[in-house]
Amino acid sequence: MFAGRIDGIGPRYCPSIEDKLNRFADKERHQLFIEPEGWHTVEIYVNGFSTSLPEEIQYEALRNIPGFAHFKAFRPGYAIEYDYFPPTQLSHTLETKIIKNLFLAGQINGTTGYEEAACQGLMAGINAHQNINFLEPVILDRSEAYIGVLIDDLISKGTEEPYRMFTSRAEFRTLLRQDNADIRLTEKSFHLGLASAARLEAVNRKKMEVTKITRILQETSIDPTEAEQMLSEKKMSPLIQKQKAAALLLRPNIDLSMIREGIPALEEKLREFAPHSLEQAEIQLKYEVYIKKEKELVQRISQLEQLSIPETFDYDRLTALSMEALIKFKKIKPRTLGQASRISGVNPTDIQILMVYMGR
Ligand SMILES: Cc1cc2nc3c(=O)[nH]c(=O)nc-3n(C[C@H](O)[C@H](O)[C@H](O)COP(=O)(O)OP(=O)(O)OC[C@H]3O[C@@H](n4cnc5c(N)ncnc54)[C@H](O)[C@@H]3O)c2cc1C
Repeated sequence: MFAGRIDGIGPRYCPSIEDKLNRFADKERHQLFIEPEGWHTVEIYVNGFSTSLPEEIQYEALRNIPGFAHFKAFRPGYAIEYDYFPPTQLSHTLETKIIKNLFLAGQINGTTGYEEAACQGLMAGINAHQNINFLEPVILDRSEAYIGVLIDDLISKGTEEPYRMFTSRAEFRTLLRQDNADIRLTEKSFHLGLASAARLEAVNRKKMEVTKITRILQETSIDPTEAEQMLSEKKMSPLIQKQKAAALLLRPNIDLSMIREGIPALEEKLREFAPHSLEQAEIQLKYEVYIKKEKELVQRISQLEQLSIPETFDYDRLTALSMEALIKFKKIKPRTLGQASRISGVNPTDIQILMVYMGR
């Protein structure tokens, strides 16, 4: 690769050791994970040492690692090169714009990763089925599922290197939690004939319970004397006046199980509910403020189109930027914050940092 005979960009998220040496030359140490390949083999995988250097050099380098002086190799490391069809040629259904009825999914769209391939296969499959049966397309929104973020990123931003799905790529990640995936998506899935009626029923029951629990917590007042023992045992400041259980739950070191344990009257009302419903209500109450804030942030980010970045802007000053954002900002020199936010691999946090430095 360094001789220039392979000119593709390697997968950023699995760089070779020579690539790491080149990009992170200032680092003094590098961690390797020695992973046994199975119970019945002596083969181990040297995780963190992927390489495409000439075979002899690979072995010489390995022999220099303490503990590896007498290693034997099964096979040398090798490089991989990616090619893909620019995903900007697709619509949100993953159907190609150029050839009707042709759907593309997976690595061919410029992604890398098992989950990335699997979720696109699911969506392309669903939409091919909808298409052939003259049914409405199924498109997941960015605020609804990581799948929505991945597909929207791919088709609207394109990608210049293998795309991986990260939580940081989603602006709504407080909404996109694994604990609420069932609430977000089961109904859709049921209407497509994927989720069973029993699953939908279970989710509907959960939603109903969450509503009831939330109401109980918002309506039940806790007396200072009732909470006194629980709070003093946990070395927390006492209640000065009556407070709703939901408000007490907002204290950082308090969770619902503590309140239930400490306040028998409340436990009496909550005993009948399923643990996953209690957990869901607790999460929704505890993070309510953050979710609201995040929605406001998304709103602000959508107004970034108007804000221009000076051409001479010195990105090197922004030490908190991710390495990927720094490299891309310097290369692309976005004209506006809006353009900066659409660059593949640049995430909302990078934009926030940029906003702060631009005095917003
Ligand atoms: C060495 C290596 C390590 C990796 N490690 C990880 C990892 O740890 N975690 C992770 O998430 N991802 C990893 N990946 C990436 C991941 O494996 C791929 O991104 C993912 O498997 C791609 O799935 P896909 O279905 O899009 O493509 P593929 O799995 O490549 O499937 C394409 C299929 O199409 C078939 N095909 C091609 N041409 C034709 C044709 N003309 N007619 C019929 N069939 C054809 C191929 O034989 C193949 O079976 C790794 C990749 C490599 C190369």
